[in-house]
Amino acid sequence: MDGTREREISGMTMRIDRTLCIGSGNCTNIAPEVFVIKEDNIVDFQDQTPDIEEGRLEEAAAICPVDALILEDENGEQIVP
Ligand code: SF4
Repeated sequence: MDGTREREISGMTMRIDRTLCIGSGNCTNIAPEVFVIKEDNIVDFQDQTPDIEEGRLEEAAAICPVDALILEDENGEQIVP
């Protein structure tokens, strides 16, 4: 399966489980530099993902209604969901 994406952003690890995403667009509204909705209506990372404020990254993950965004801090501790 090719359903998971992972990036290091702002010192943290963000994972997308594309098998869960329903394309609601909540995360892209909060962090459009990081997330984009693709042609299949499922979210993916932008080609280039800049470091953004940690709080906004956390908020973007936490607002996902289906917990498709998993965020770990710099110590590998899962902080969202
Ligand atoms: S908030 Fe969740 S369900 Fe909505 S587009 Fe982002 S990853 Fe997908």
